[in-house]
Amino acid sequence: MQTMNKYTISKEGFYGNFGGQFISEDLKKEYTKIAEEFLKIKDDKDFVAELDELLKTFAGRPSPIYYARNLSKKYNAEIYLKREDLNHTGSHKINHSLGEALLAKKMGKTKLIAETGAGQHGVAIATASALVGLDCDVYMGEVDMIKESPNVSRMKMLGANVIPVTEGTKTLKEAVDASFKAYCNEYKTAMYAIGSVVGPHPFPMIVEHFQSVIGREARGQMLDVAGELPNYVIACVGGGSNSIGIFNGFLNDENVSLIGVEPLGKGEKLGDNAASINFGRVGELHGFKSMFLQDEAGNVANAYSVASGLDYPGVGPKHAHLNEIGRANYVTIDDKEAIDAFFELSKTEGIIPALESSHAVAYGIKLAKQADKDTKILINLSGRGDKDLDFILKKIGNH
Ligand SMILES: *Cc1c(COP(=O)(O)O)cnc(C)c1O
Repeated sequence: MQTMNKYTISKEGFYGNFGGQFISEDLKKEYTKIAEEFLKIKDDKDFVAELDELLKTFAGRPSPIYYARNLSKKYNAEIYLKREDLNHTGSHKINHSLGEALLAKKMGKTKLIAETGAGQHGVAIATASALVGLDCDVYMGEVDMIKESPNVSRMKMLGANVIPVTEGTKTLKEAVDASFKAYCNEYKTAMYAIGSVVGPHPFPMIVEHFQSVIGREARGQMLDVAGELPNYVIACVGGGSNSIGIFNGFLNDENVSLIGVEPLGKGEKLGDNAASINFGRVGELHGFKSMFLQDEAGNVANAYSVASGLDYPGVGPKHAHLNEIGRANYVTIDDKEAIDAFFELSKTEGIIPALESSHAVAYGIKLAKQADKDTKILINLSGRGDKDLDFILKKIGNH
């Protein structure tokens, strides 16, 4: 039995005031079953051994912590990077994708249903489906399919069906709606493989569990590499999975400041950013209660960020809770600052970061500029930037 504290989820799926299951009674029954099976399977010896083996030999874990020697020198602080960019498929998303695929297999399901925005989650889920031997349907907005066509090709290559979504803005929010609807029709044989710590209980709990490997590794590695825990742990927040994954390793170390970086996009106006904690209000969408960007009338707003992986109008319930109780702080970085950090890390350290991760890097640099020389800053480098090169070249050119 897990011991309960202010950071753990309740039996009904709440982190403090946030989370829950705002869905039909029929689905509630199914989701409760998934929760029960997950809680049984997650500690099963064979399951843990199989997942660990795949994380190690297939995904490449543990990902190292790298002491960013050039940035540290330049800004006179100690900057460390948790290298999730080195994982197979290029980001942290393989961590929960492998977990979800194995879980579905153990539960006797034959298909994974997923949504994707930039295509990163879709590629990771298609990869895990190919490995484990499951069918895979990925719902993707038509606009995103055009913007992210290399990822569409990858998913198809891996054997997944990519299903275009033509409603509304034809991006991530509508893709979530469509995949959720498909799952409601197919739940007897399929499992919903959500891409972040969002959605109704038990999905945030499941994704959180599989992403916590980041923080578990990072805590031990910091003690090895730096000799002590970091003063700050920084991660970008879209739905919130890479950040929860790393935060969880340090939640009980009250002296470690946890900082989530939300995308400020083009600015503070509704529709120009995706900073759900900074500019959102309490609401309900996609089956859970959390902080959402919404207009005066409570309609959920369109989210925007230069990093497609961050443009979701809400945030995982645990972040809303950590914000409310003050255990984590949520700051913002805009498009320009993120792009500057993208180039800075590339040129200074020889690491091209994902535009999502560049938000965390930007805030880490900002902090380093004001910090004492021996301040230790750990940044979660959630993914690599290969996927962003076309976009950067088209929009900005070679710096
Ligand atoms: C998807 C993605 C994110 C955002 O998702 P979270 O659930 O907030 O982690 C961040 N970084 C990369 C590289 C991604 O692919």
